[in-house]
Parts: sequence; structure tokens; C-alpha cells
Amino acid sequence: MTHQEQDCLFCRIVRGEIPATIVYRNDYVVAFKDIAPVAAQHALIIPVKHITSLNALAPEDEAIAGQILLAAGAVAEILGIKDSGYRLVLNTGADAMQTVFHIHAHLIGGQYMGWPPFQE
Ligand code: 5GP
Ligand code: ZN
Repeated sequence: MTHQEQDCLFCRIVRGEIPATIVYRNDYVVAFKDIAPVAAQHALIIPVKHITSLNALAPEDEAIAGQILLAAGAVAEILGIKDSGYRLVLNTGADAMQTVFHIHAHLIGGQYMGWPPFQE
């Protein structure tokens, strides 16, 4: 295991070293509730593999990229928001306020959400 993987918060959740409310898991992805929800429903879908951001996603990660999208519908169904609607957000880099450098798709819903999502 690399030092990055050892210290990464989300790798630690994947390994079960840090508790999380896991709602979905397969060989490629893990989904768990966000600790600070921004909407009535808020889960994070992350790859099992440590990839720092979309910028580091490589052609060999094609299956992982697909699995994140495939998991979205499954997780939305588990959260009970598949039919009411939801949003998938992948914050990447400083302008998007990415704070954890292990790819994660925010799946948010359970309420009406405005668009565009900009804030001062
Ligand atoms: P970002 O700001 O990088 O797009 O999203 C990081 C997300 O991870 C935030 O929504 C934050 O609330 C969530 N988060 C940070 N630490 C933890 C944690 O220890 N457990 C869980 N479940 N979520 C976390
Ligand atoms: Zn990681």
C-alpha cells in the first residue's frame, strides 16, 4: 500500500478503519452517507481504487468510471430518491472546492434543488 493510500480518509473508510454508514458496495465502488449532508439525502460514491481526482483518471480506469455512474441509480433507489430525482456532482480542484483527494461523486436529493449552484 502506498503512503497516500495509507493516509487517505476515503481509503480508510473503504478499509473499514473509519466508520461510515455504507449504503452500497461492490468490487469497484463504495457508497456511504456524507458526514455533513448538504441536502435531505447526501451520499458519496467513491472508487475502491485510490484516484485523486478526475484529472488523474486514466484510460485503464474506464471500468471504474462506468461503475461510479452505474452505482448512482442503485444508490438513489436505496435512498428512496430514484423517482423524485437527484444530482451527481464531482468537485474537481480548487474552484469547485474539492477537499478530499480521492474521487467521490456526491449524490444529493430528497428535496428540490436550485440551479445553477453557484454561491458567493
Ligand atoms: P469535497 O468537498 O471534496 O467535494 O467533498 C468531500 C465530502 O466529504 C464533504 O461533503 C464532506 O462532508 C465529506 N466528508 C469529509 N470527511 C468525512 C468523513 O469522515 N466521513 C464522511 N462520511 N464524509 C466525510
Ligand atoms: Zn484514497
